[in-house]
Parts: sequence; structure tokens; C-alpha cells
Amino acid sequence: MKQEQAFPIIGSYARRFWLKETIIGLRHYLEEEMELGWEGWENSSGIKLGQEISSIVNLDSIRQELDDCQRCGLHASRTRIVFGAGNPHAELVFIGEAPGREEDLQGEPFVGQAGQLLTRIIEAIGLSRQKVYITNVIKCRPPENRNPAPEEIAACEPFLIKQLAAIRPRLICALGTFAAQTLLKTEDKISVLRGKFHVYQGIPLMPTYHPAFLLRNPQKKRDVWEDMKKLKREYEKLRALSAAQSAK
Ligand code: URA
Repeated sequence: MKQEQAFPIIGSYARRFWLKETIIGLRHYLEEEMELGWEGWENSSGIKLGQEISSIVNLDSIRQELDDCQRCGLHASRTRIVFGAGNPHAELVFIGEAPGREEDLQGEPFVGQAGQLLTRIIEAIGLSRQKVYITNVIKCRPPENRNPAPEEIAACEPFLIKQLAAIRPRLICALGTFAAQTLLKTEDKISVLRGKFHVYQGIPLMPTYHPAFLLRNPQKKRDVWEDMKKLKREYEKLRALSAAQSAK
């Protein structure tokens, strides 16, 4: 049925408004039900539909809240906001530093050279970009790819926190110094942090070297591979655990 036939009386603005209100209402309803212990409808691929809808809508509303963000100076030089991409209900989330040139042009995280390496890393552990979620601490490109400034991180971090709260991943991989230090609230070096699990909001977090650093220091790929093997083991352990729980 065409949209106009389904809503014969109201115009497109009213239709969009009605749809938005309905989605917000649905999201609140699903969140309340899940807080009361409901786990969602399970579809044929084992995905809890209630959780999935609620995550999608949540990510969507976080993106809407970000809007045409001008909370820090980076808006003046950016082409596009790079919000994040992938599975809104991912069990594993990768978090980088900030968009580079390609990402700024395309509006997608990790699509340049470092992104291609990240894609290979993800595939090496048996996953795909579609299965995981990928985002950055900073959603706009710093000019000339300079390091993000503390006030830029402070302006953007609330959105990263909300994204993680919406997705509720089982595991996080922090790529590089800025992601690891921002999430773990530490000034320790990435060389010290990497290689072992830390905890972010109850979620195991593995820091590792950033793919752009690996492009400049290929001898460090061995370390990242060791970190990814640990990540994959933990991922499989958590999946087995949840499969056992839902079989009960
Ligand atoms: N480096 C990052 O940290 N993020 C991107 O999206 C691309 C490169």
C-alpha cells in the first residue's frame, strides 16, 4: 500500500510528526518492558527484536540530538559529522579517535587507509564490519588530522557514552591512545594499557594500537594480533554463555 493511501487525510509534515511520536512512544514502551525483565521477541536469526528496535531508535535519536552540531570549533572545518556505522545491536564495538580526510568526506568511520586495515583486522577474527559497530571518540575531523583537544573530547564524549548505552555491547575494543584514555579515564600510555582487558561500565574493554599507528609501525602488528586473539576468545566465551542461558 502506498504511504498516501495509508494516511489519506494528513499531509507529509503531519505524517512525519505522527511517525516520530509513535516511534518515541514505542521506544519508551520497549525500554520500560525490558527494564521489567522482558527480553524481546526472538526472530529467526536469534535476534531479540525488542532490543534491536529499541537500539536502532535510540541510536537514531542520539544522532538527531547531535543534529548539525556546533558544540565545539570543529564544526567550522568539517564536511560531515561521522556518527558511527554497523550493527546497532553489536556485541562488539570498535572505537577510534576521530575521522580523517576520507571519513570526513564520506560521513563513514574508518573508510580510509587505516580503515581498510581495520576491516582486515575485523575479518581476521571471523567478523565483519556489518556485524560490529564502529565509531570514534570525536565525530568531526580535526584540521590536518591533529590530535583532538581536551575541550573537543569533552563536547563529544557524552554522545559516545549514549551510543554505548544504546548498543549495550558485550565487548569494546579501544583503538589507540585517545579512545583508551578517554574511556578508561587514565593517562597511561597505550603501550601499557594494551594487551589486557580493562572494564568500562561493566563491559570488558581491550585497548590496542590504532590501525594508523600500525601503518607507520608495521612491526607492531604482531602485538595487535595477540590482542585480537584475546578479544576473539572473550567474544566466543560470552556468546557461548548467552547461548547456554537462552537455552535454559
Ligand atoms: N582514524 C580514526 O580514528 N577514525 C576513523 O574513522 C578513521 C581514522
